[in-house]
Amino acid sequence: MIIDVITIFPEMFPGVLGASMLKRAQESGRLRVAVHDLRDYSQDKHRKVDDRPYGGGPGMVMRVEPIVEAVEALTRDCGDHGGCETILMSPAGERCSSALARTLADVEHLILICGHYEGVDERVKSLVDRSVSIGDYVLTGGELPAMVLIDCVARYVPGVLGHEQATEEESFASGWLEYPQYTRPPAFRGMMVPEILLSGDHERIARWRQEQAVARTLASRPDLLKDVQGSGFTPNPEHPSAREA
Ligand code: SAM
Repeated sequence: MIIDVITIFPEMFPGVLGASMLKRAQESGRLRVAVHDLRDYSQDKHRKVDDRPYGGGPGMVMRVEPIVEAVEALTRDCGDHGGCETILMSPAGERCSSALARTLADVEHLILICGHYEGVDERVKSLVDRSVSIGDYVLTGGELPAMVLIDCVARYVPGVLGHEQATEEESFASGWLEYPQYTRPPAFRGMMVPEILLSGDHERIARWRQEQAVARTLASRPDLLKDVQGSGFTPNPEHPSAREA
């Protein structure tokens, strides 16, 4: 998969892209991320890419022309194979989710546009395939959201995690939050690993995990339960947390 990022702060990316899973994914050739400086596409002799908003108001707005130039240059080789999607990072976009990340992981080539200042000229929206938000809050720029999206999508690119089951069982994959996880030592400052996890009884462990996932979801994210139908994950109606609901 290829991901091109368009930004006025390319220097923000190497740390995140150069460590851990994203680094390994690029080394293995499963992922190629290229970060492009939007100012390289400016026609202005001072490489300016922003201007004052029409109608007045505070701050600056990113101009449409350099963004269009950049996207057109990066999509030139895409042809008609349909494997290319352009995404604007925007607090007004559709909310990032594991479902969206799975969908995007099937796309051959993503182009992510990072806004800054007061945002981008509205006309940019006519050339993107979608706008994506990483949550209901406003950040200074689209760089952190783009990094979040890259990390989120890369985990669903086959071979990147190395153990695909990891994405099947984790939070949000089937509508529930994930069950609690423990590792050694079995006792730490009086806090014990639940006995059942040390029992070796895989059937009981699976059941316990399912119940814990239900309890945790009911306690902290009951709003997720409306999406759980058809997930294949059956809550135990006898579980105390389920009875409370
Ligand atoms: N004035 C805009 C508004 O009220 O919606 C906010 C602009 S924000 C300061 C600058 C840029 O940061 C946006 O164009 C977008 O690219 C990015 N950004 C900020 N928050 C974001 C979020 N929650 N999700 C995705 N991108 C975000």
